[in-house]
Amino acid sequence: MEHLRAVALESGLALDDLRFAQEMDRRDPLAHLRSEFAIPTVRQVAGDESAGDDSACVYMCGNSLGLMPRRARAILDEEMDEWASRGVVGHFRHSKNRPWVGYRWPIAEKMAPLVGAMPLEVGVMNTLTTNLHLLLAAFYRPAGKRCKILIESKAFPSDHYAIESQIRWHGQPASAMLLAEPRAGEHTLRTQDILDLIEREGDSIAVVMLSGVQFYTGQAFEMGKITAAARAAGCVVGWDLAHAAGNVPLSLHDWGVDFACWCTYKYLNAGPGSISCFFVHERHARSPELCRLAGWWSHEEETRFDMSNRFAPAAGAAGFEPSNTPIFVAATLLGSLDVFAQTSMPALRGKSLLLTAYLEHLLLTLCGGGLRIITPHDHRGAQLSLLFDAEKFQPAVDALAAAGIVCDERKPDCIRLAPVPLYNTFADVWRCVDVICSVTAPGRHAQSGSDVGV
Ligand SMILES: *Cc1c(COP(=O)(O)O)cnc(C)c1O
Repeated sequence: MEHLRAVALESGLALDDLRFAQEMDRRDPLAHLRSEFAIPTVRQVAGDESAGDDSACVYMCGNSLGLMPRRARAILDEEMDEWASRGVVGHFRHSKNRPWVGYRWPIAEKMAPLVGAMPLEVGVMNTLTTNLHLLLAAFYRPAGKRCKILIESKAFPSDHYAIESQIRWHGQPASAMLLAEPRAGEHTLRTQDILDLIEREGDSIAVVMLSGVQFYTGQAFEMGKITAAARAAGCVVGWDLAHAAGNVPLSLHDWGVDFACWCTYKYLNAGPGSISCFFVHERHARSPELCRLAGWWSHEEETRFDMSNRFAPAAGAAGFEPSNTPIFVAATLLGSLDVFAQTSMPALRGKSLLLTAYLEHLLLTLCGGGLRIITPHDHRGAQLSLLFDAEKFQPAVDALAAAGIVCDERKPDCIRLAPVPLYNTFADVWRCVDVICSVTAPGRHAQSGSDVGV
């Protein structure tokens, strides 16, 4: 907010003036990255060819499916051409120097700085929930009293089902699923409550498995602190980073996280069903005793094709990838990572904090009492989750859709908005709030509208 106020002062524009938002966009050092993406038009997202116009929509849904980087399509086309022109030869000799046998490596190298890992620690395979299972196969080793898995009571359903079924599959009782619950009347978990739970239950917990950024509330967990406490209590620590990767800065290696997994179609913009990534800490890089579910691809590269049937795991995360890399869903990720490589997580985070602060400020000052923000002010990524008064919810959903604003609704009362620093603008944020307050504070809206001549 301090930065936003300074720009307002300097430019002589009020914060709630659209021209202020446009001034922020003019000053944005990352503004050029928007042109790397295909931005749908209002008509395209309206689902009705006769509705809307051909101006860019306001896309606030990068927390669910990121927009397409043009580079993703280009690189996918290149791989199709390679297949067409070389066939099997492309596995080893590739005209763009990306032989398919080693396709995981450029991805691991480009992903590593986004999550605070060494390339050796980053794996590339499958989709997220499948990876959660594969990683738990190696890292969930219930023994005696230490048999529980700690998750959030409101974890993403896929994670809930995965953990529940892992517990059953390991022959453990249902009570081995330990749920961290917010206090009565609260939506988010307090860090201290998680730490207390770990201290109290520590010697019965085999794995602490939380999400880095909560999908519903947008809360960013204090991953460093929680990891340290859980490891001190003798637990294995895994993180689901579906809403964290490409969104908030991560230091998986330095925090000492054991394993983590994340999809790449949310903030990482690799497209629907794109390949997922995972992390296995370097200290497990050469641990043959870890009982992983193996395959030929997790065998060390030098002798993989000897077909000896004597398994020798590859070092690092590669040793957890049973199958060869699906190139077409990995190609789009590689294309997306080329866009990330033009900037850095600290730079993206800097802009993200400004966008979210601006969104919060406008919502709090312009939208009246018809909604509240449940995302914690101090611990969040790009997303704000808004709870609407019952009678305002559907009108708000309808008004946003009619204005060509794409966002995510969770019935009965929640709208999630995620301005993404790679392609969203401050003007996007302004437009979005302008529509919301036309529903929640119609009188005030008309007034502020006339103030700024819009
Ligand atoms: C998006 C998301 C998933 C999706 O799982 P897939 O296996 O990729 O379908 C799982 N868990 C969380 C926490 C998510 O946010």
